[in-house]
Amino acid sequence: MGITTKKMAEKTILLDHGSGGTLSRELVDQVFARHFANDRLNEMSDSAILPFPATEKGAASQLAFTTDSYVVQPLFFPGGNIGKLAVCGTLNDLAVSGATPLYLSCGFIIEEGFLISDLEIIVQSMAEEANAAGVAIVTGDTKVVERGACDQLFINTAGVGIVAPARAGIHTGREIQPGDALIINGPIADHGMAIMGKRNALDFQSEIHSDCATLTPLIDIALRASDTIRFMRDATRGGVATVACEVAEKGKLGIVLDEAAIPMNENTRGLCELLGFDPLYVANEGKVVIIVSPDDADRVVTAMRQHPLGTQAAIIGEITTAHPGKVVLHTEVGGTRIVDMIAGAQLPRIC
Ligand code: MG
Repeated sequence: MGITTKKMAEKTILLDHGSGGTLSRELVDQVFARHFANDRLNEMSDSAILPFPATEKGAASQLAFTTDSYVVQPLFFPGGNIGKLAVCGTLNDLAVSGATPLYLSCGFIIEEGFLISDLEIIVQSMAEEANAAGVAIVTGDTKVVERGACDQLFINTAGVGIVAPARAGIHTGREIQPGDALIINGPIADHGMAIMGKRNALDFQSEIHSDCATLTPLIDIALRASDTIRFMRDATRGGVATVACEVAEKGKLGIVLDEAAIPMNENTRGLCELLGFDPLYVANEGKVVIIVSPDDADRVVTAMRQHPLGTQAAIIGEITTAHPGKVVLHTEVGGTRIVDMIAGAQLPRIC
């Protein structure tokens, strides 16, 4: 009895610890950050920004370094596969940190019995995505585990890039000011709903495609359009709501989001309603939230709209001095509601 009671009291990892919500953060804070703590890690940005030896020209660039693991299920989904996701996700974490991505590593954990032809499709799409971004996959590792020891295939990618001196502060978000605009490059919640549709073999009007994409060229356009981009984050697990909540909390600023301004595809909206998901929290894999000075917001939106990944770019909210630390949504029907951090995932193994 004593043993049972003790076991019950022992905390175990829950699926929600991998969600990107408050439980994820608790795990990071109480286990990883507590033991690994250092100034670089404590920034908790999408990439660690590290001092880099000055070049002969004396430019004080910095190194951006990031890593991510991919466990998405199913491995193949409309609009992509685990390999494309693994490359896009890591390139995007570098790009939103103001870095120009240079090199990637990839590690594969493969279950015995996995089809080599499937592996090849996945690897081919990784190569295509990396080549398109002008990035080389320069090192890797393969482990095969016995049947049942992992679910088909897991991939880890790490990436490094260079941050130009003028972009050194973007990853911190410290320059965010009241009045700044929040921009998104297009419709939200497609990735999460594409996975859900595929997983449940839902026979929907027309298939929802994941937005999985490398955002580097689009982010480059935005950065060239304005010198006052304060912060960027890719709205992956936890969606746009989680990005907004993190920004509000970290900067002790208020955020107002305008629901009517947030682009969404009708199919995705329909599936969210059908399955009871709030699209604001659903994962994206090709969406960036950009925070920019009010004077430059329209210019950035106009510039982004010239690129295929930004045709529906829109201003979706504003930084405010009211309700510091809180995100408030002005709803389409004219009401307001608080947008909170959620504890767990709406969907496990979404990326
Ligand atoms: Mg990210």
